[in-house]
Amino acid sequence: MLLAGVIATLALFFVPSGSSGGSAEQVGYSQLKTDIAANQVRSVAIGPDGNISGTLTNGTAFTSSYPPGIADPQFAQLLDTHNVAVTTQPAQSSILATLLNFLPLIVVVGLFLWMGRSARRQMARLGGIGRAKGKVFDTERPATTFADVAGYDGPKQEVTEVVDFLRNPERYRRAGAVGPKGLLMVGPPGTGKTLLARAVAGEAGVPFISVTGSSFVEMFVGVGAARVRDLFADARKRAPSIVFIDEIDAIGHKRGGQLVSNDERDQTLNQMLAEMDGFDPATGVVVIGATNRPEVLDPALLRPGRFDRQVVIPLPTQRERLAILAVHSKGKLLDDDVDLTVVARGTPGFSGADLANLINESAIFAVRRGRDVLDALDFAEARDRILLGHRDSSNALLPEEKHAVAVHESGHALVAALSEHGDPVAKVTILPAGQALGVTEQLPVDERHLYSAGYLHDSLAIRMGGRAAELVVFGAVSTGAADDLAGATALATRMVREFGMSAAVGPVGFGAERPTFLGGEQVTGRTYAEATQRLIDREVTRLLREAEHRAVALLTGHRVALDDLTELLLDRETIDGMDVDMVLDQVTRRQP
Ligand code: ADP
Ligand code: ZN
Repeated sequence: MLLAGVIATLALFFVPSGSSGGSAEQVGYSQLKTDIAANQVRSVAIGPDGNISGTLTNGTAFTSSYPPGIADPQFAQLLDTHNVAVTTQPAQSSILATLLNFLPLIVVVGLFLWMGRSARRQMARLGGIGRAKGKVFDTERPATTFADVAGYDGPKQEVTEVVDFLRNPERYRRAGAVGPKGLLMVGPPGTGKTLLARAVAGEAGVPFISVTGSSFVEMFVGVGAARVRDLFADARKRAPSIVFIDEIDAIGHKRGGQLVSNDERDQTLNQMLAEMDGFDPATGVVVIGATNRPEVLDPALLRPGRFDRQVVIPLPTQRERLAILAVHSKGKLLDDDVDLTVVARGTPGFSGADLANLINESAIFAVRRGRDVLDALDFAEARDRILLGHRDSSNALLPEEKHAVAVHESGHALVAALSEHGDPVAKVTILPAGQALGVTEQLPVDERHLYSAGYLHDSLAIRMGGRAAELVVFGAVSTGAADDLAGATALATRMVREFGMSAAVGPVGFGAERPTFLGGEQVTGRTYAEATQRLIDREVTRLLREAEHRAVALLTGHRVALDDLTELLLDRETIDGMDVDMVLDQVTRRQP
């Protein structure tokens, strides 16, 4: 995100113009930073005069501005680490003109940043002066096997084909079979993606050549591409072999759509695609990429013959956590009062790395207390420390968060189960997945092509179910419902605009809202009057209100079932639709 850095730095040289009209909410600069840190900001547009506008993750527009005369280098970094999309002010007449105006300044700032970076790099690599390209990859022959990876039987099964191919690529060639070329491991950080990739190499007995995606992304155009060439040349020389690219999203980010095209990254990505396409099927090089953000990857990466196999590595279940704890406590002395089953139950949302860390921290606590046997107290202290320690980098849930997520998901599940047209509940879990803290999955009875109004109204209520449950139980809502609201709003908007399901707007269909790009600025084609837009907005709001009322009424009427389901979810973390029905049955039988 160098661009963000440049723009942010650039903006510091100017005094904000202050007023920025419109109905957007005005947010103070320090509040804005707090919001970004709390992942509540989706995008910001920074004007060269220091004014900032953007949207929150809940869709609200806001404006803010830099404090005049204060340089804040943290800001760009904050934007970067919290994945905020950065653009320039869309209201600006021409961003290109603005950039050109400040070109000399950009060059100075860019040079300044670059010098800082290269100085750091040279310190890191002693004697790096004069070398056009450093070797950025490591080669090893891991002794890791599948036995070192606890749990994850599904993913292990899915990668056995790769092991088989690497053991004998010749056999594939003779049979005229095309072996796997690329495999993408998708999952949150610390879930053992690297470990599993290493185990594939260990099981197949081949070299493991690993690199981090971000180490390709350099200031100079062409360096990344040259490094990719080196990497693949090395892999071919050692074939059969595995190339492991961690954080592949750093190179494989969708092309285009950026303000200024990132030539360097595009070239790096193109080089990688060319290398993969150039493999002879019998070469015996398999590229394994790892990412926790598959949605940002360029679709070209996922085409057949490239990363066309995906292995999803979610956070470990309770049983898998027990297995991981067992692996990592091997060779450590545990006191009688330590029950790893209890530890596993108390650590929902912990990744494999968190669990390995938990054991290590427990050992440290034990040492500090002058003992070499780990007891339950050590485990409790280590767990609290991890829970409170790196909240940013961890999926681990605090007990009260866990409760709130259980209430929220129970709400979705119950409204779904109680709705006439709702699809049956397939799975409810309070284990975080991606951005979501918990998930309620419904399984359509059959593949639908047509949706009745009743079905869509029920869908709205089900989406509102999570928030409604928070209202019923806590009397207040949390930020956890932002995605639900966005989804419900999108659906309600289509019902009103496209499906003619609002009596007030009437039987009109305005067609899908199709954004068009004019001169890089997004303009939404709208074919009706301002008054119609207001009516549509009002009708959308009405549909959402009604859906929320219905969800609240359903959950209030089934409060006992809601509480029972929450308890069950807290206890088991993941339940299925039959469990939901069972809870409902039991409650009805108890109090007919
Ligand atoms: P990722 O690549 O997904 O970020 P890593 O493979 O680097 O995660 O995992 C970090 C560490 O966490 C591993 O080295 C290992 O100690 C531990 N770990 C993660 N998953 C497991 C597992 N399933 N079994 C045993 N240890 C695990
Ligand atoms: Zn929800």
